[in-house]
Amino acid sequence: MWRIAWAFVLGVCAAAAERPAVRVLLVSGGGAEERAAAALLADALRQAGSFAVFTSDDPGALTTAAVARYDVLAVDCDGAWWGDAAQRAVERFVARGKGLAVVRAGDCALGPEPGRRRFAALAGAAAAAGAASGSQPLRVTATPPFLTVDDPGPALTPVPGTKILAAFRPEGRAGVEQPAAWTTSYGKGRVFVTRLGRNQAVRGEREFVDTFLGGVAWAAQVAPQPRGETVPPVRTLVVTGGHNYDPTFYTLFEGRPGITASIDPHPMPYRRGDLRKNYDVLVLYDSMQQASEPERVKLTNFLESGKGLVILHHALVDYSDWPWWYEQVMGGRWLKVDGPVFKWKTAYKHDVDMLVYPVGEHPVTAGVGPMRIQDETYKGMWLSPENKVLMRTDDPSSDGPVVWISPYPKSRVVVIELGHDRKAHLHPGYQKLVRNAILWSAGKE
Ligand SMILES: [Zn+2]
Repeated sequence: MWRIAWAFVLGVCAAAAERPAVRVLLVSGGGAEERAAAALLADALRQAGSFAVFTSDDPGALTTAAVARYDVLAVDCDGAWWGDAAQRAVERFVARGKGLAVVRAGDCALGPEPGRRRFAALAGAAAAAGAASGSQPLRVTATPPFLTVDDPGPALTPVPGTKILAAFRPEGRAGVEQPAAWTTSYGKGRVFVTRLGRNQAVRGEREFVDTFLGGVAWAAQVAPQPRGETVPPVRTLVVTGGHNYDPTFYTLFEGRPGITASIDPHPMPYRRGDLRKNYDVLVLYDSMQQASEPERVKLTNFLESGKGLVILHHALVDYSDWPWWYEQVMGGRWLKVDGPVFKWKTAYKHDVDMLVYPVGEHPVTAGVGPMRIQDETYKGMWLSPENKVLMRTDDPSSDGPVVWISPYPKSRVVVIELGHDRKAHLHPGYQKLVRNAILWSAGKE
């Protein structure tokens, strides 16, 4: 019977604030599949908030000098042997007091190369012969126990003296449990090992993520950040409709720390209950020139209650016949040509390769910096002189301001002109900008 001690996951101390981020080098194989699998680990580390994450997909290039600047190595084994030189560099790294966290450890430890036995020793284990067993339901004994579907991979047995964190047994089958995760020490350093994580889907499961994050923090000899004790996330309603868009738009809201989002196409949000009750911030990405009466009432109530608003790209065209909206709330208006035939006077231009840069310092542009982006520009809008411009471009196809705060006094309104398609949606600077804007408009930052 394994003694189960999930100690580092649950035994959390609160003194984690104000510590510089733990520098993690995430090492994976270089194939597309390996990189995608490792990206899930990188995301989990980044979302934990207390790690600075660096990646390498060339394990054979690890040297003592190359790893010296990190606190902990997180190794995502893919079955290839990283070579004796890298093995020695990692041994020295850990022996001198740094940390090592190994995912799907059996794949590093088992193989024909003699150096792999040294890897197994570093991981506090001995590799046993036995082929990979394939994905299957596993009952994992931990605190609390859970059921997962994973491939435990090559057999790997911890040596005496390691501390077993979790064990598994194929679901529905009797027999001896096999160790799934454990910790050990090596010289002055700490090593966390899990055999799990071969099945990529497992990397999205809470139990796996918690163990991995706890293991990395433990190996780095820091207390893990308590999870779930932060401020409640900003409840965000994203309104689409009236304009097509790339599905990459959703990546702006999925998995962004501090934010939960629902997407609801126009006009449904204005037909359902009170927006004030369920949401803190409204993000408009629709393109609707007319506002119905119920829409006006709901938007007015929402904004007058002090809730946040972020207006993105297409939505700058919204409500150009509603003076309260364009003068106060948005601080901008798309203009029409005078005359009987509908025609826009404001111009647009697609795929402009431009430099946009912050104007002064503001929480909305924190960490965004000047950025090169290929996006659509607008020119010839009416813009309120009372706007506080946060970012601009000097491209001649633009009016100049591309991010601003409107003069509206009762709530925080951020207008981001950028965001036409996937080139913006997938731009790290744009992603940061949108997240910052949501948090700031909610009064969080
Ligand atoms: Zn557009």
